Amino acid sequence: MPTHQSRQRQCKPAKMSQQTTPSGLDPVQVSSFRTHLSQSTRIVTIIGAGLSASSGLPTFRDINGLWCNHDVFLIASPAGFRRDPGLVWQFYSERRRAALRAGPNPAHYALVNLAKAKPGFVALSQNVDGLLQRAGLDENPKQLKLLHGNLFDLACAGNCGYVDYDNFVDPLCEVLSEGRVRASVMGADVAEGEKPPKASALLFEGIAKKNKKILGEEKFAEAAPTARDAAPLTELGQEVRVPEAAPELYSGIEKAELPQCPGCGENLLRPRVVWFGEALPEDVMEDVDALFKEEKVDLAIVVGTSSQVWPAAGFCEEARGRGAKVAWVNMSEKDCKNAKKEDWVFLGDAAVILPEILNLEGQE
Ligand SMILES: [Zn+2]
Repeated sequence: MPTHQSRQRQCKPAKMSQQTTPSGLDPVQVSSFRTHLSQSTRIVTIIGAGLSASSGLPTFRDINGLWCNHDVFLIASPAGFRRDPGLVWQFYSERRRAALRAGPNPAHYALVNLAKAKPGFVALSQNVDGLLQRAGLDENPKQLKLLHGNLFDLACAGNCGYVDYDNFVDPLCEVLSEGRVRASVMGADVAEGEKPPKASALLFEGIAKKNKKILGEEKFAEAAPTARDAAPLTELGQEVRVPEAAPELYSGIEKAELPQCPGCGENLLRPRVVWFGEALPEDVMEDVDALFKEEKVDLAIVVGTSSQVWPAAGFCEEARGRGAKVAWVNMSEKDCKNAKKEDWVFLGDAAVILPEILNLEGQE
């Protein structure tokens, strides 16, 4: 029996006609976010590499080119530094140069303006590029917590405690000049068909374990981890070793040619960033703990970092636990997977979105 159900085509409203703000956002969402923002006093922003994408800086994982044949563990770990400090210094010299050539983008300035308007604003940043500071966020040190350090702070690689803050000299020494780094790394060829992985399986396994522990089995979804995700592995008692199949790549640079610690005169200097297998800076973590214990949090804004991995996932939940409403600003929907129904999700370039949604003057 034929049914009498109508086969008529449903006339759906074209998506294109849906009203959006100039940067393509839902005006209802923007308006409700701004209303909440204007009423918020304690605001926590959790920041990842996506904030600096518009400044042209690649994320750690996306750095390839000259470094694609290097296991990231060998260029960003204490073991890697002991093995070949020259190679590690060459890698960080390239990152310092890229950051020096880049400049803050409108997203950085929008956050700085918000910090000025809201004394209770705190940024928890995973970025080591110094762009937030260059945009002006370091005027009030309580408002910026660097979770992974800063490329432009140099520290004693031993234990003398010497730190050289905001050292923008480039190159730091002759062997770290652009020409020398390129010649040296290009020369370190790996035989065809023997290209090592970019990061070891052991490391990825450790990251997955840690994220499962933080998020719980149910919430955990497999996602490509970044080098930064691996930073606090030791806190969970993971043992991290240089993979056995480590490629035999050496810079050939003598220790005497690298930046020396003037504090003790015995050790090398190293970039003051958090490496694989190292804990996040204790003083910073104490501040962050206090932040979530003191009083309620009104608003958490997660910018340019995945919601599925540490530390964004953990901090976001902590803020939620203190009563915060949550907003996500990300290029990819995948990175907002853990967003709840009541959250705001703004997809797109942070450099376009943040100036729009954080514009307090535009508040009606
Ligand atoms: Zn020293």
